[in-house]
Amino acid sequence: MDGSYSLMAQVDQAFDRAAAHTAHPSTLLKQIKSCNSVYHMTFPIKRDDGSIEVIQAWRAEHSHHRLPTKGGIRYSMAVSEDEVMGLAAMMSYKCALVDAPFGGAKGGIRVSRHQYSDTELERITRRYTFELVKKNFIGPGVDVPAPDFGSGPREMAWIVDTYRSLHEGELNPVACVTGKPVTQGGIRGRVEATGRGVFFGIREACDVGEDMKALGLSRGLEGKTVAVQGLGNVGYHAAKFIQEGGGVLVALAEYEGGIHNPRGLDVDAVMAHRKESGSILDFPGATNLARPADVLEAECDILVPAALEQQVTEENVARVKAKIIGEAANGPLTADADAYLHDRGTMIIPGTYLNAGGVTVSYFEWVKNLSHVRFGRMQKRFEERAFGRLLSAIEDSTGRRFSEQEARDFTKGATEEDLVNSGMEETMVTAYHTVRDAQKSLGNALDLRTAAFAYAIDKIAIAYSELGIFP
Ligand code: NAD
Repeated sequence: MDGSYSLMAQVDQAFDRAAAHTAHPSTLLKQIKSCNSVYHMTFPIKRDDGSIEVIQAWRAEHSHHRLPTKGGIRYSMAVSEDEVMGLAAMMSYKCALVDAPFGGAKGGIRVSRHQYSDTELERITRRYTFELVKKNFIGPGVDVPAPDFGSGPREMAWIVDTYRSLHEGELNPVACVTGKPVTQGGIRGRVEATGRGVFFGIREACDVGEDMKALGLSRGLEGKTVAVQGLGNVGYHAAKFIQEGGGVLVALAEYEGGIHNPRGLDVDAVMAHRKESGSILDFPGATNLARPADVLEAECDILVPAALEQQVTEENVARVKAKIIGEAANGPLTADADAYLHDRGTMIIPGTYLNAGGVTVSYFEWVKNLSHVRFGRMQKRFEERAFGRLLSAIEDSTGRRFSEQEARDFTKGATEEDLVNSGMEETMVTAYHTVRDAQKSLGNALDLRTAAFAYAIDKIAIAYSELGIFP
């Protein structure tokens, strides 16, 4: 950290702004705001060429008001203690917002993953897990990591395998981490969950006619122009679902550059082009943007930053044209940029809420692991038979005969994926209106971020008050 930017300080600033709208005693607010435990580790790994490298890594558990704590593990050169603590704090507020019964945590390993072979990354991940086990910073009832920037199901599989080998005979070792491959105890729908949740949140915001009118936009997502920065797990899936939901992707960017087409870009075709050519640039029919960051300044209704934090800053904020910013990434706006956009009347859907689809489905995965049964297994066939009897009764009483296809559609019992997606949609839709209602009740001028934080603070305060420590 160069001293000019602190994610933790930015999160604390948002906390303080929101805390001023609550009535909790200052000691309780201090406890909620504090990061409970931070573990900074250094360990050596042997590279494939035989040389030794010392790796730095962290795990921060921000709040123990609910256990286990929960939060992803980031693989990036920008990882620092400050960043991990800031992201862990965001997780506490995020979990409170979507009613996931966890405290917040975050992990980070300071590596540039592109500079390591798969076997080196596996050694790093397994050693990191071992260090967490040694200090009791991982476990189904202690702290449950998940994927984040630079990590995915493969890394989670290495983690569960390492943890399991150190906890022979335990009943629930697979619940020590979420975002695993389905074959390793993962859940269907987790990979795309965060991006899908981003879509649900943006769609919900666009469906409130009154708010769209205030922005000079029509109601609904259909036809709205959208720019997305970062086409990794979150950005790609968000773009895909937004496109399927009627949004028009006019600008897309990856770290090597950006492209623009006011008539729309098909995200799957862009990804196929990138796979084939090694770059997003020179996509047929699109114009290359001069710099990757130009995507943030594209002419569009909705901007979705889905790469990293601190992307919209004092330097470029005046050139941002979008009327809605959907924070898919954590902390993509600096506090100054956020304040500028708020004053200008831009709607900012905060990441604390908008990217909570991932942790919501991680919660479902953890519950599945603890219950040792796949969602839908007990009721699918029962439901299908009950719907079948209902359909027969309708046919008998009306004389109408349903086609085989209609009968199949009407009587289909819910699969695990159906239940996961509908449970997450319910969570995201409900949480959007919770945040919006909080905004209205605290005074309409308040931004959604402050309202989301104030609501989350209230929820955590209730958990602490149950302990009877605070007045
Ligand atoms: P990822 O590693 O899968 O994807 C990030 C993508 O951004 C990569 O493809 C990378 O090349 C690209 N990128 C990096 N710098 C860029 C730049 N300057 N311009 C354009 N693209 C750039 O990571 P992810 O899991 O998609 O996470 C993205 C963000 O979402 C992070 O802020 C993360 O904390 C947040 N998030 C992720 C999850 C999750 O479930 N994975 C959940 C909540 C929040």
